[in-house]
Amino acid sequence: MAIEAGFNSNGVPARKGLQARVVWGSNVVTLGGGAPVRIQSMTNTDTVDAVGTAIQVKELALAGSEMVRITVNTPEAAQAVPYIREQLDRMGVSVPLIGDFHFNGHRLLTDYPDCAQALSKYRINPGNVGKGDKKDRQFGQMIEAALRWDKPVRIGVNWGSLDQELLADLMDSNAHAAQPLSVKQVMYQALISSAVGSAELAQSMGMQANQIIISCKVSGVQDLIAVYRDLGRNTRYPLHLGLTEAGMGTKGTVASTAALSVLLQEGIGDTIRVSLTPAPGESRNQEVVVAAEILQALGLRSFVPSVTACPGCGRTTSTTFQELTQQIDNFLRDQMPVWRAKYPGVESMKVAVMGCIVNGPGESKHADIGISLPGTGEAPAAPVYIDGEKRMTLRGDAIATEFQAVVENYIQQRFGAANAQPAL
Ligand code: SF4
Repeated sequence: MAIEAGFNSNGVPARKGLQARVVWGSNVVTLGGGAPVRIQSMTNTDTVDAVGTAIQVKELALAGSEMVRITVNTPEAAQAVPYIREQLDRMGVSVPLIGDFHFNGHRLLTDYPDCAQALSKYRINPGNVGKGDKKDRQFGQMIEAALRWDKPVRIGVNWGSLDQELLADLMDSNAHAAQPLSVKQVMYQALISSAVGSAELAQSMGMQANQIIISCKVSGVQDLIAVYRDLGRNTRYPLHLGLTEAGMGTKGTVASTAALSVLLQEGIGDTIRVSLTPAPGESRNQEVVVAAEILQALGLRSFVPSVTACPGCGRTTSTTFQELTQQIDNFLRDQMPVWRAKYPGVESMKVAVMGCIVNGPGESKHADIGISLPGTGEAPAAPVYIDGEKRMTLRGDAIATEFQAVVENYIQQRFGAANAQPAL
């Protein structure tokens, strides 16, 4: 069965899949079926540390994560979950929590009903639910908990924990096939069969198809693209998309961006996670920042006003231009948790910070607000363009502070409540 696609407002194909709902209180996060592509992330705190975990969940939510997954691996972790939820509710953070279960999820969800209730979605890895005759029984116990508490599940298959019995069966059948597939193709088939087969089993136990999200995560870019193209064409379940074990820093960011961009551009992927390994001391929020940047760069969603800046060249011999770009970028990001509610629409604003007269005025005119700094040898003046018109020229040592004030004033005027369009 091939799934037909429509197009979203950017002309990007939109897969016509089912829509799932992940709910906490009045916060309903829709996944798939035409909903915006959602960002999710995962904590790296010890879940038993309920306060520390709640603080990190809050930070991830403020950075833009619309769902946050937490490890639930022990009875103590399961007992901490309701307290984490309570702390978040007290802080006014309604982001849905997803429980990540492996090996003992059937017991934890059965033995700790407060944990099962406080979570908004359960992640089940079919490769880690049990072996032999225990597999279906333990999987069934997790589905029973999902039905009892009316929670959606993600059937999350991973390359690193693929169901080995299923893989062995598929390898065996392939060896006897008239036209055997390559080993890699059989691996793809095993990933997809594990996810889709488990989803169908969950449906046979009473789950609705739109309560099931599936994922098949691998760590190779081309492998991920091949597997998700197949899932996108042949299933209707909402798809969680991410390159697993992407790695650190630039490598992890580039690999995730390469893989996710190809698929998102084809309308494949309803929720994404960028699985970066943080450098020691680096904020966990970086994975959310990268996910948001991917969606914003593709024109699928807007999260933070974008800053267009030239790379600089021999015409920018001082660091003024780099400093101003960084200052404005940091300022816009830092303000967004407050501005998101106060200035609706500000996230789609475009700011330009340019290094000299060559492209500076042109790019600045294309932005909502832009500044063209003086390059080497130019007169020490920085024209500022607002809505395509030159409105003022800044001079002297306080250009950065003055430009920041101009940006803030523009935001108040354009996006403030006084200028909001009355509802019709
Ligand atoms: S706008 Fe000017 S400073 Fe920036 S890269 Fe182009 S020529 Fe260089």
